[in-house]
Amino acid sequence: MDILKQRILKDGKSLPGGILKVDNFINHQMDSVLMYQCAEELMRLFADKKITKILTVEASGIAPAVLVGYLAKAPVVFAKKATPKTMDKHYVTTVHSFTKGRDYDVLVSKEYLNAGDRVLFIDDFLACGNAALGMADLCRQAGADLVGMGFLVEKSFQGGREKIASAFPDLRVESLATVTGLGDGTIELK
Ligand code: 5GP
Repeated sequence: MDILKQRILKDGKSLPGGILKVDNFINHQMDSVLMYQCAEELMRLFADKKITKILTVEASGIAPAVLVGYLAKAPVVFAKKATPKTMDKHYVTTVHSFTKGRDYDVLVSKEYLNAGDRVLFIDDFLACGNAALGMADLCRQAGADLVGMGFLVEKSFQGGREKIASAFPDLRVESLATVTGLGDGTIELK
């Protein structure tokens, strides 16, 4: 998606360790117009999938997920990284965080992920694919049907797409901008 690529080149920052900082328009300040355009494109890519639920993981996936959910007229569920006292029964899985360098549990209430749901997972980044595989595991536990994964930005040099493809060869995975390399202050896009 050209407009997103241009914005990454204009305002993205390449940080050490293969991290792309996009705090100016996705992760801290959010460009709501750009985010909505991204949601429209994701909706177009998954229009044939009869989605009944959007799943994301807090916090940075929530904004794009809500906009996709709005367009799909589907509820949006965000997996939580801490167990609220008010949550009884839940599905839980462990995810390794690439940016934080540690494992954490993510969970979803059994009330909000069900057998029969046709789930689209939305997130800001696809890096190593750990968050995505964790969400797939939550869907499996719930008996929900995972029908696709959509990302704003994919870092193709971190192997996430291959990891997802080897676990789910038929799953449609789409990203709106693909970063092929991050150097010392440089960003390469496909
Ligand atoms: P993965 O599980 O695919 O390794 O990483 C995905 C998660 O890590 C995303 O939810 C995203 O929040 C975070 N992440 C991974 N790489 C980056 C990055 O380069 N920049 C930012 N801002 N977040 C990232």
